[in-house]
Amino acid sequence: MKIIILTAAALACWAGAARAEIKVVTASSDLKYICERVGGAEVKAESLASGDQDLHMVEPRPSLVYKLKKADLVVRVGLDLDMWVDSLINAARNKRLFYGKEGYVDASAGVPLLEKPEGKVDASMGDIHIYGNPHYWLDPANSKIMAANILAGFKRAAPDKAGVFEANYAAFVRELDEKMAGWQARMARYKGLKVITYHSSWPYFARRFGLDVAGHVEPKPGIPPTAAHLDGLVKKMKAENIKVILTESYYPRRGPDFLAGKTGAVVVPAAVSAGGARDVKTYFDVFDRVIEDLEKSAGNK
Ligand SMILES: [Zn+2]
Repeated sequence: MKIIILTAAALACWAGAARAEIKVVTASSDLKYICERVGGAEVKAESLASGDQDLHMVEPRPSLVYKLKKADLVVRVGLDLDMWVDSLINAARNKRLFYGKEGYVDASAGVPLLEKPEGKVDASMGDIHIYGNPHYWLDPANSKIMAANILAGFKRAAPDKAGVFEANYAAFVRELDEKMAGWQARMARYKGLKVITYHSSWPYFARRFGLDVAGHVEPKPGIPPTAAHLDGLVKKMKAENIKVILTESYYPRRGPDFLAGKTGAVVVPAAVSAGGARDVKTYFDVFDRVIEDLEKSAGNK
């Protein structure tokens, strides 16, 4: 009798281990969060970059290649933000994940892009953001499109679970809509507020919440500031009474601190991805936290 029970337990255990679980590897921690929301218990998600990393600058390492070897699905930010994913996919030689294959998901597909270059791209525009601005996840509304792309990927990987994924997606969208209403209500009084941002990573956020990005600490995306550029910004900030400098926590503070010292502006170092700070654990936390910080620094405008 004992033997039979043990055998049954072992079988149940084996069945549990063999349960089809979709292994998804994402470029960013925000995409990992959205995958976990849409996939629920059916998926195991891992992110290649951590939430406090500059996604433009992730170094392809063998440990990241290894993650992709075993993956059923890869989800990338797309455009030119995570081109390092290409070399990782090639090195992993996992054919399912190749461009256009069933395991390949570009979360940016269908996102209406800002700063899309018109006509010919030339060197004067800088080396990055060449296909348009890739920081689209900072408009929370775009996460519906990201989640829909992920949903389609999961349905390809496990068609029998489509109903589960669709219900999870609907729950995600419901929560997002609720949160969005709250964020927009809180941001309403900052409509037209001029801000300086370190990198051109905030146009989607600014458009959604009515901020006016008046300049960047970087003269061009990816180019560190010169003294002359900073002096020009000081003049602009004084003339237009600009009091907020938004920067990602991974950028150097020298430029923003110099501007703040000359103008009395406040530097807001923001975590722009899930896990980017101790109290920014999820994608939704990104917005809770940055709006709270803006409220503290911009005050009752
Ligand atoms: Zn960028």
